[in-house]
Amino acid sequence: MDLYFLGTNAGVPTLQRNVTSIGLRLYEERKALWLFDCGEGTQHQILRSQLKLSKLEKIFITHLHGDHLFGLPGLLSSRSNQGGLSPLTVYGPPGLKPFVDMALELSQSRVEYELNVVEHEGGVVFDDDTFRVEAALLEHRIDSYGYRIIEKDRPGQLNFELLKQYGIKPGPIYGQLKNGASIQLDNGDMLHSHQVVGEPKKGKIVTILGDTRPCDNVLQLAHGADLLVHEATFLHDMQDTARKYYHSTAYQAAVAARDAGVNQLILTHFSSRYKDEHQLEPLLDEAQTVFPQTALAMEHHLFPVQ
Ligand SMILES: [Zn+2]
Ligand SMILES: [Zn+2]
Repeated sequence: MDLYFLGTNAGVPTLQRNVTSIGLRLYEERKALWLFDCGEGTQHQILRSQLKLSKLEKIFITHLHGDHLFGLPGLLSSRSNQGGLSPLTVYGPPGLKPFVDMALELSQSRVEYELNVVEHEGGVVFDDDTFRVEAALLEHRIDSYGYRIIEKDRPGQLNFELLKQYGIKPGPIYGQLKNGASIQLDNGDMLHSHQVVGEPKKGKIVTILGDTRPCDNVLQLAHGADLLVHEATFLHDMQDTARKYYHSTAYQAAVAARDAGVNQLILTHFSSRYKDEHQLEPLLDEAQTVFPQTALAMEHHLFPVQ
């Protein structure tokens, strides 16, 4: 599982950075790519990357500001040209469905795959055998959501070598042992599940937030996460501006990461006033004074979830 940043700038694109979109590669976990937000130009960024639209399974939109949304109609329309014919579901706040429907209808765009648009107002937005995604409202000028992506724990593997030594042949009994049952061996001894099943593999938790001021739901969504992606539009010397425009500073993002007890913090959504890597360095320095395990998001870089 890893993150691939397609856009890291706030508000408008610049020549150095595009507007927000983040790929979550779940190639091992479910052979799928998920996207979080889809700012204008996201499909161009994908063309420049190793990401494949054919693998795209879900898109989660945090809020309906253009820098997180305006790339969606274009990407949906051209996805099938790049071999993306599998069903695709887009999740986001109320208003997302009329936006997508109208953009596709007025432009007479036809998508050649099953497209589902799911509007939500927080809570559990997706749940299956391997993943659950929860959303909660943040504090922004319009409704903006954060997502907590929870990989479910995987049961431990059966030790086939050991089973052979106990003389147990493959069959339904394997499933029973894997599910925690104890069985009686021919010699009368009991064989317990934990003797032949390895440790369960703990699932990862990744939290990806939309634009926000510091608020309680940031901590709820990020609690104990392996990785938190938090906006850091400004340096803390601009905290009044950040508050006025419902954004966060790098320092505030680091405080949230520390208080939520996450393992790793990635800052993104940088104001265009910070023009290049050199000018972004103070944001990293500021955050690391509070939370050392911080990195700056960089476009076309992979960040493994550790
Ligand atoms: Zn934004
Ligand atoms: Zn916004």
